[in-house]
Formats: sequence, C-alpha cells, structure tokens
Amino acid sequence: MIPDYEQQLDALFIEAFPCGSPAVADWAQIKFELQTRRKEMGGVRKEVVEFARMMERVLRENDHKSGWDVLNITELFLMITREYDEAYMAYSEYIDSGDEHHIQNLCREAIDIANCCMFLCHNYSNEVR
Ligand SMILES: [Mg+2]
Repeated sequence: MIPDYEQQLDALFIEAFPCGSPAVADWAQIKFELQTRRKEMGGVRKEVVEFARMMERVLRENDHKSGWDVLNITELFLMITREYDEAYMAYSEYIDSGDEHHIQNLCREAIDIANCCMFLCHNYSNEVR
C-alpha cells in the first residue's frame, strides 16, 4: 500500500509556499494521483498481492545477478522457455512419483516464469511502465 502522507505534506506546503504558487498546484496534482493509485491498489486481489510478494522474495534472493533490465527480447524469451522447461520437469516428476514436494518446485518455477515475464514487459511494454 502507498502510505497516506497527504495531511502532513499539506501542512508543509501551506507553510512553505504562498497560495496559488506553482508548487502548490503541483502538489495538488501529485496528491490527486496518489489518491487514485491508492484506490487502484486497494482493488488488487489478495492472490495477486501474495504472488507478487513471492516474486519479490525470489528477486531479492537473486539481487547479486543484476542485468535483466538490459536483456533483449530474444534473451528474455529464452529465459522464459528455460523456466517453462524447469516447471514442466517439476510437473513430470510429480506425475511420475506422486511426491508432493515436486508441486512446491513447480510453484517456484511458476514464480521464475512470472519474474521473467515481468522482465520482458518491463523492458518492452510502454503500458506496463
Ligand atoms: Mg527456475
């Protein structure tokens, strides 16, 4: 969630800038955008938030491997297909063995796929930014 700092910042702006100054107008616009974003985020499904948190946890585990933001579309697509292959392997191992720990591996690979898809969308989709 985006923290609600508007009241504290309102007081600061009133004190620091004369009424009608460009800074006050800018602040009013920013405040409107923050309120809009907060409403949008409030509508995010619990499952999406939980999955995004799992994605973030895996990203943090891999922070030492920087550079995804400069990968080209072919490299990113290959990453997605490799992660898909890993997911398929976990699925096959579960089907063959019935051992449920492979389902956890499948979920981990699903998160890897999602993170690679996020990389691709971040690097190439103007709508996502
Ligand atoms: Mg993987």
